Amino acid sequence: MGGLSRHRPDLSIGKVKAMSAVLSLDSVRQRSSQLNFVNQAFIDGRYCAAASGQTFDCVSPVDGRVLTQIARCDQADVDRAVAAAKRAFESGVWADLAPKARKKTLLAFADLMEKHADELALLETLDMGKPINDSLKVDIPLSINCVRWYAEAADKVYDEVAPTSPDVVAMLRREPVGVVAAIVPWNFPLLMASWKIGPALATGNSLILKPAEQSSLTAIRVAQLAAEAGIPDGVFQVVPGMGPEAGKALARHMDVDCVAFTGSGEVGKLLLKYSGETNMKRVWLECGGKTPHIVLADTADLHAAASAAAWGIFYNQGEVCNAGSRLLVEESIKDELVEKVMQVGKSIRFGDPLDPATQMGAIVDQDQFAKVLSYIGLGQEEGARLLMGGRKAFAETGGFYVEPTVFDGVRNDMRIAQEEIFGPVLSVLTFKDAEEAVKVGNATVYGLASAVWTRDINKAHKMARALRSGVVWVNCFDGGDITTPFGGYKQSGFGRDKSLHAMEKYTEMKTIWIQLH
Ligand code: NAD
Repeated sequence: MGGLSRHRPDLSIGKVKAMSAVLSLDSVRQRSSQLNFVNQAFIDGRYCAAASGQTFDCVSPVDGRVLTQIARCDQADVDRAVAAAKRAFESGVWADLAPKARKKTLLAFADLMEKHADELALLETLDMGKPINDSLKVDIPLSINCVRWYAEAADKVYDEVAPTSPDVVAMLRREPVGVVAAIVPWNFPLLMASWKIGPALATGNSLILKPAEQSSLTAIRVAQLAAEAGIPDGVFQVVPGMGPEAGKALARHMDVDCVAFTGSGEVGKLLLKYSGETNMKRVWLECGGKTPHIVLADTADLHAAASAAAWGIFYNQGEVCNAGSRLLVEESIKDELVEKVMQVGKSIRFGDPLDPATQMGAIVDQDQFAKVLSYIGLGQEEGARLLMGGRKAFAETGGFYVEPTVFDGVRNDMRIAQEEIFGPVLSVLTFKDAEEAVKVGNATVYGLASAVWTRDINKAHKMARALRSGVVWVNCFDGGDITTPFGGYKQSGFGRDKSLHAMEKYTEMKTIWIQLH
């Protein structure tokens, strides 16, 4: 999603000092056994149980163990959170602060996240199953960097004055939309939340975060850090719970002004409907993808392309919206490239997410595990050739593990080439020329990202323009940083996270036309 994949050497960013470089599995296990799992909602400045008293199990995909029971918020809790958010917004306690004051508080929040980076990384790994090394070096540092970057932007973005005739002053002002609900998925739990928290809070809104039910722990934990940093009561709240309960209650609420969503297209479409049936709240959707990873025969560095293709699908267990799940290879180099991809795939250290040496961990939960395995079965039924992997692994742990999997002989009309599997399953397809590659690449309902490898600068430019996706990578995969927008075309959604453009989602544009006399 811009700067995440493992083949990038510069993963470690910012000032974050991760747990010791000589971290061992034993030391990680010991630290995780000392963790305190905060499991309540954070409403109006304090932790509280759901009004109903209901909870749900927080199951670790590492070993299937129940870590804690989390508050299962519903309409009553959402009503309370929205009322607090609205009260805070209307009081101006945050929205009317000088931008430089908001910046100071958000920087303090980022500093506290950094202070607790090890703890947040452990929570993320235990809750979601990603390797601890990735949580420490990617998810948590990028989350901190994101909050810091928007904090810094808060007092550097100017409004506009329109070029009207001299007897008029017309100001184009950006104002916060009000109460923002951020509904986020489980694949990069804190990072996806931070992509909303940063710009929404920097622009003065009150934010209510609904984490995915599979991965609520870091969201709940950072709520307290936000309060400690001085973010006022009601400005940053967290309502954990089920999508059709807490999520739906937020998305249908008459006093929620904007829903910023990252997740599946199916739920994204529901949110549009909820908005239409209620208060026409702004809805921003960042949904799934089926990224074509296109490799032409003239590629200068086939090793680099193979490594990118492998990590592009196996990183984060393939649970990445822009995972390069369709490898489109020019016919003449298919066998050589696929062989290299499999070599990389076989070299990946797959196993216990708590082991600092692990590079590929567990699938988030039982449902997703079953879904990935069922797609692997479907691929075989559809006539694709299973070249590598395809089985569940480490069943003795009680966790949810699927081997890195490669299918050859895939046709673009097969379901495994069209539907988002969201697991470590690569489909290999071939093409004859650049034109066909673009045609097949675009032949999907999604349009989140695409990648092209070629040494021909003309082909690269033309293909990059012709591919219908929000991001196109050339001679790399998953490049980007906080300065570049990320989001989709077509059914991958229409919002853009990251960059200064993301601030537009959380602001209304007001024109003030002043007649001079
Ligand atoms: P999901 O759509 O099932 O759930 C996302 C969130 O929506 C969760 O918090 C869930 O509780 C909530 N939700 C579910 N039903 C709801 C309802 N009826 N009303 C309101 N909220 C509801 O998605 P997921 O399985 O958590 O995440 C995987 C999806 O996210 C994939 O499709 C992936 O591609 C996408 N994703 C996209 C991006 C991006 O930037 N475009 C980034 C990461 C993930």
